[in-house]
Amino acid sequence: MRVDFQQFSGFCSCGKKHEFTVKKIIIEAQATRYLKDLIHDFKWPVILCDTNTKKAAEEIMKEYFSLYEVLELPEKNLHANDQCVTIVQEKLTQEADVLIAVGSGTIHDIARYVAYERNIPFVSVPTAASVDGFVSVVAAMTWHGLKKTMPAAAPIYVLADSDIFTKAPYRLTASGISDLMGKYTALLDWKVSHIVTNEYFCSKIYDLELAALHEVESQLDGIKLQNRESTEKLMYALILSGLAMQMIGNSRPASGAEHHVSHLWEMEILNGRLDALHGEKVSIGLIMCLERYQQIRNAIKIGQCKVTAPRAFETELMQKTFGKKGLYQNILEENGQNILDSICPDELQQKLPLIYEELLKLPDAEKMRETLNKAGCVTTMAEIGLPDSLKDLTMQLCPYVRRRLTLLRLSKMLEYPDEILKINSDIPTTCQSKL
Ligand SMILES: [Zn+2]
Ligand SMILES: [Zn+2]
Repeated sequence: MRVDFQQFSGFCSCGKKHEFTVKKIIIEAQATRYLKDLIHDFKWPVILCDTNTKKAAEEIMKEYFSLYEVLELPEKNLHANDQCVTIVQEKLTQEADVLIAVGSGTIHDIARYVAYERNIPFVSVPTAASVDGFVSVVAAMTWHGLKKTMPAAAPIYVLADSDIFTKAPYRLTASGISDLMGKYTALLDWKVSHIVTNEYFCSKIYDLELAALHEVESQLDGIKLQNRESTEKLMYALILSGLAMQMIGNSRPASGAEHHVSHLWEMEILNGRLDALHGEKVSIGLIMCLERYQQIRNAIKIGQCKVTAPRAFETELMQKTFGKKGLYQNILEENGQNILDSICPDELQQKLPLIYEELLKLPDAEKMRETLNKAGCVTTMAEIGLPDSLKDLTMQLCPYVRRRLTLLRLSKMLEYPDEILKINSDIPTTCQSKL
């Protein structure tokens, strides 16, 4: 499958001209056979991989592993962080003029950051359909302990070889499903922010992503059976999500409150190191956010959702938690001026029916949990070794990890009765009033 992304480029009804740096995306069996011709003009290609991803791709890419210089990172302690970037910067020869990232999310984040720093292009060879970041223009890094989105290079080519990624350990593929399903709340957060603050919004990208989400949802049985065609569809949707970020220039269409949950846990403020993949944390974040958003929807439905005056930063709590690791100041810097300050409570109250309309488009939390479980995805905190007791604090703190308006952040301005908090499934229509 060749991704004809030029159909998305050019002037759009959103008022923006969407542009890409990626020149070609191929998702098919033996996609890597095109590599040699594509990078023909480069003098010193270097393959960046780790022990596991080398093993996964070695046989199919045998020729390239003997032809090009290989920089293999040990899989132990491999993270997209400042330490690993330093290792690559030190080991990477000055002559290198193109990087070939053979791996999943972590290898890609390191490659795209180093390529940006060196001002050289990189080629993406994903070894698993595990994340949506392959064509992203930003790298999700942990920098001196703080989760950061760093400027980075997007690949010039993506060669997604289904002979490689369909055979990836299923845990990685399941993680990709979860990362993708997380777009439900990410897209909701984007739309809500557009409604409330008039933030830039592109309905074309929103529709494209939603359609890809639905398509993958219909393919989950096939993906679980490691069916090639179904897994290629998952890869396509993940790459599309990355393209959406490229079209907009930031991660807004792909990352909302569900990702903030994951980022908070990655900062290890409330918890110790977790042996969990990105998508697994997003998966749990998604379910938690869907439950909360459903409660807000129910409260609006029965006319029991009240907007209060803007909430100031919860400084005492932030100091006590982020401060423990010396990150309080960084968090304040990240947040800058409190985004809730600019929101007029009266206007927000008037906009609740519009938010309600958007909330109706979300999948039911319980149904999503079943869908994810059936697809072999993680859905509970216990599965990644986190106690349930951290749930409330996670939801309270995670909106501060990024200066990005989400409904979860906005809910700090919303008041609804406690009993609504306990309603997880839809409430009977007999409770309807006021709306
Ligand atoms: Zn647009
Ligand atoms: Zn993600």
